[in-house]
Amino acid sequence: MTLFELVKQTIHVRDAAEHYGLQVNRSGMCRCPFHDDRHPSMKLNEKYFYCFGCGATGDVIDLVARLFGLSSFEAAQKLAQDFGIDPDKPPAAIALPKPKRPLLTAYRQEEMRCLRVLCDYLHLLERWKVQYAPKTPEDALDDRFVEACQMLEYVEYLADLLIAAELEQRVKIVEMLDKDDLIASLETRLERQKEEETPYEEKQSA
Ligand SMILES: [Zn+2]
Repeated sequence: MTLFELVKQTIHVRDAAEHYGLQVNRSGMCRCPFHDDRHPSMKLNEKYFYCFGCGATGDVIDLVARLFGLSSFEAAQKLAQDFGIDPDKPPAAIALPKPKRPLLTAYRQEEMRCLRVLCDYLHLLERWKVQYAPKTPEDALDDRFVEACQMLEYVEYLADLLIAAELEQRVKIVEMLDKDDLIASLETRLERQKEEETPYEEKQSA
């Protein structure tokens, strides 16, 4: 199989268009990049594109060649590179693992981890605030009670943002939490905490 065939068979026109920044709507139409197009008049299918405005048409390689001013061969090479297609591997092996934005997936996992740790911490603080509250005004304040009072609101705020804020803001929070391994040390601390407390809870339920 030639590189041309391989690229055309593996990459849909629509996926390539989106990958290179064209906004494709639900019916597979986008604003034509090849003429001054105010409303989407280019139709994108799996195998070809066609513009009802200026008549531009072709396959995925033609699209990329025209978008970037490349020869057909250069366009095929670019597509192979950008979509992680290795022409030396048999097509069966390539067709399956299409690189699906690995960076975003990794970020999502990190975000989930941050949220999980924050929620664990939040629950611990909520419990501490009740469990270690001073019983009389003369009692010395327990460190755990103090920590709960100081941190509860802030941790709750961060967790809320991670659940509901826009992506851009969430990325900033995750970055902040990963800085200096903040989330990692909190995670370790919570795990240790859990281990210490297990016997206590087992006793309680027994
Ligand atoms: Zn056009």
